Amino acid sequence: MKKKRRKKQSKQKKVSHVEPLVRSEHFVSIYQEELNTLSRYILDYRTVETGGQLFGHWTYDHRPIVRFVLGPGANAGHEAAFFRQDIDYLRACAAILKEQCKLDHIGEWHSHHTLGLDTPSGHDASNISKNMEILGFEQFLLCIGTVQGEQSAAKMFLFTKGQKKYTQIPWHIITLNNSYRAHIDNFYSELFYPPKSARPHMAALPIKDMSTDNRQKGSYPYWLKDADNKKILQRIIDFLNAYPSQRCVPTIDKQGRVHLSIYCNGEEKYDIFFPVFFPKTSPVIFNVLDDALSSKVWWVFTGDILESFILFYKKFLACEYEIPSF
Ligand SMILES: [Zn+2]
Repeated sequence: MKKKRRKKQSKQKKVSHVEPLVRSEHFVSIYQEELNTLSRYILDYRTVETGGQLFGHWTYDHRPIVRFVLGPGANAGHEAAFFRQDIDYLRACAAILKEQCKLDHIGEWHSHHTLGLDTPSGHDASNISKNMEILGFEQFLLCIGTVQGEQSAAKMFLFTKGQKKYTQIPWHIITLNNSYRAHIDNFYSELFYPPKSARPHMAALPIKDMSTDNRQKGSYPYWLKDADNKKILQRIIDFLNAYPSQRCVPTIDKQGRVHLSIYCNGEEKYDIFFPVFFPKTSPVIFNVLDDALSSKVWWVFTGDILESFILFYKKFLACEYEIPSF
């Protein structure tokens, strides 16, 4: 089911020069709302650089999900070929995103506006590699924005520790509501600076082509093909995130099937997998060693996916922790 965890790579020589390499099996997931926010931030500065940080998660198979795009603080440095974030602003925002939303700092972004360079400069690449080494990051993202007339554009690059080449990766856009942005907007709007540009205008992006994967899985209509079921999935995620100290990260595998990774106190605990015949067949809950833990729990489909799932999950926890089901 899951790929084996990568062994820690041995310490490599300092990377002085890294080159782009397009590898399509990697991709970055981002909420549509965050892509819109990114576009507006890029369009705020059309003659000097601007930038910020990307917060989100890495999935169990090392794929990035961007859940929050942070823009520049009030004291950030914007010059024609240079951007420096307002460090006090970053610290304050990062503390809230980490503590309240359990989001990790997974990357940076900056705009080369109309410089004519839509890839990382040599300085950008060596800077990222150097910082990854200092901070002990295995992987890190760098997004380069540009301004093309009235539009913004953005390319995402994945840096992996020990690899001499960074990789341009396509985008996968999540159209579900982003509850993290809503939380920050509701409670911290005085701290977080929104973009000044009223509207996003993002040029066509390199999007991850899922069509090959879709063909592989045959003609059976997977439950998420139904738009209403996508809303139900969001409600399942909300239900799972309502448990204290628990965080749920949805991912789609190569066959287009949904996995919900469950993290408890920051550590990956379970992978809830929705097989092709779900909800006729049961979801399966694996531990990090890929043992199916939920085989003792009977899946009863009442006709209501959310209700059935909640019952199933509560029974599973009762079994796992030998606590009474409620
Ligand atoms: Zn740059």
